[in-house]
Amino acid sequence: MKVIVIGAGVMGLSTAWGLARNGHHVEIFEQAALPNPQASSMDEHRLIRHPYGDHAGYARMIDPAFAAWDLLWSDLGRKLYAATGTLALTGNGADWAERSALTLAAIGRPMTELTLSELRRRFPQLNAGGVERAFWLDTGGVLFAQDIVTALARYLANQSHVRLRADMQIRTVDLDLGRVTANDGTVHEADMVVVAAGAWVGRLLPMGQRLLPSRQIVIYFRLPEDQRAVWAKGPMIIEKTGDVGLYFVPPMEGRGFKVGDHEFSRTGDPDGGREAREEEIAPLIERCRGLFKGFDSWTTDRLKVCFYTVTDDERFVVEKTGAKGWVMSPCSGHGFKFGALMGLELARTIASNRDPLQHARWAAGLEGE
Ligand SMILES: Cc1cc2nc3c(=O)[nH]c(=O)nc-3n(C[C@H](O)[C@H](O)[C@H](O)COP(=O)(O)OP(=O)(O)OC[C@H]3O[C@@H](n4cnc5c(N)ncnc54)[C@H](O)[C@@H]3O)c2cc1C
Repeated sequence: MKVIVIGAGVMGLSTAWGLARNGHHVEIFEQAALPNPQASSMDEHRLIRHPYGDHAGYARMIDPAFAAWDLLWSDLGRKLYAATGTLALTGNGADWAERSALTLAAIGRPMTELTLSELRRRFPQLNAGGVERAFWLDTGGVLFAQDIVTALARYLANQSHVRLRADMQIRTVDLDLGRVTANDGTVHEADMVVVAAGAWVGRLLPMGQRLLPSRQIVIYFRLPEDQRAVWAKGPMIIEKTGDVGLYFVPPMEGRGFKVGDHEFSRTGDPDGGREAREEEIAPLIERCRGLFKGFDSWTTDRLKVCFYTVTDDERFVVEKTGAKGWVMSPCSGHGFKFGALMGLELARTIASNRDPLQHARWAAGLEGE
């Protein structure tokens, strides 16, 4: 079977990997350099964690997601992941951590609740201003995202039945005929076409308001020497003590030290300017001040603008479209952790003719909810 994949982010590359492992021919088209530094998958890290609020379907997918990453490490010959454990904090009326703990207890992966004094003892680097409840889980960690994408692209380039085409933008797709037209006018055909175009998907297919590009900003901090060692051991923190959820990525294995929020902007053009303004990050800075000890001695190393592709309910869209096409958009700001799994499973469904509706339901995290 021959499959065309549009987009060489983690989703497109993982699908190509899943297909190539089973001997299928794949041609991947990427509109820019491969990998594209502007892709959502191209940041130093992305988090993987079990706590998922009420979303039991996604919480259940985390173990298979870890298994899929393990398979990838074995194919790549290197592990691009560091375990940190997961610390979930809530306060100010928010109850995401409690709801996550309930969901995880129901599926046999209970979190441990820490008293506030235990929290201060175990994590002396936190001020924990506004924290009312704290939950800990030993699992979870940091995926070295851009290194994964780069290594996967290199691995695929060495597979005889995979063709990678950088700087080749697909202009039109016909998902009934399995046909695409590139910016140089050439027409390419396959048994199946997978559109994994990230925040650019609306340029190729009429997605309306269903999948919206959402401009997001993260801050990389520089820490004073005396605070680096303690943070280099983690933990990952998911903090919901205000209106906006905040996540914190510790500087594992020499990578950066990052904070972002999970408030969707629901605006922005992925081809537009990528500069962030100081006022855009002011609320985030204020939250950090309350949470971290010694924060006033931290300095901003750099800001990064990156795009989510969001749905209203934050569920993934992986759907058969036309006789010979799939739209693959597992994002809403939480897709990377499932990249290897989403790729392997879509490859399996395409190659073995599994029920597309069931696949879409599974990818939307609806199984077991
Ligand atoms: C700030 C931020 C923090 C995040 N944190 C987390 C996290 O902690 N945990 C987590 O699990 N997820 C997280 N995510 C989400 C995750 O990064 C994304 O869900 C995932 O990377 C999406 O991958 P993708 O392959 O769909 O898209 P992309 O990586 O954007 O890849 C799409 C590719 O398609 C190419 N393309 C587009 N149109 C065309 C065309 N017409 N022709 C050819 N090529 C085309 C693009 O150039 C691009 O390279 C975060 C995202 C952001 C932005």
